[in-house]
Parts: sequence; C-alpha cells; structure tokens
Amino acid sequence: MSFYLTTVAGGESTMKIVLTSEKCQGHGRCYSLAPDLFDADDLGNAVVLVTGDLDADQLERATLAAKNCPEYAIEIGA
Ligand code: SF4
Repeated sequence: MSFYLTTVAGGESTMKIVLTSEKCQGHGRCYSLAPDLFDADDLGNAVVLVTGDLDADQLERATLAAKNCPEYAIEIGA
C-alpha cells in the first residue's frame, strides 16, 4: 500500500480516496471509522461517498480508514 505526502493549503488537498472494490471483503472498518467518507452497499462492501479532493480533516480520517483496512483496499492518492 502506498501513502503519499501532500501539501495542504487553506484546508484543501489534492488527494482523493481510491477504493479497489475487488479487494473489499466488507469488514466495515472504513465506514465505522469515517461514516461521512464511506458507506456500505447491500452486501456490506464499502462505497466511497466523497469523490473529489479531500479537505484536511477528511484526509486525516481517510488515511486512518486506509490504515485500518485489512484488505488494503483503500489508497489515498492524487
Ligand atoms: S475496511 Fe476495507 S475491507 Fe472493510 S469494508 Fe472498508 S474497504 Fe472493505
């Protein structure tokens, strides 16, 4: 899994959530940790709620979710 450093200026970053759905096994950690960024589909697999650039607070929580995904399904990238 790769994480990238980014410059956050004025609370905005150019980082986005990248979810590889094929890896997701529905453990639910991401939408438990960051329910404003992730939700579950009918099978309990993750869907991303925010498709654009993350603000600083979102970036922090998205990174936390990515680090806690046991399937390495979430990446934070430009
Ligand atoms: S934590 Fe990972 S495996 Fe679990 S629901 Fe989220 S993306 Fe899927």
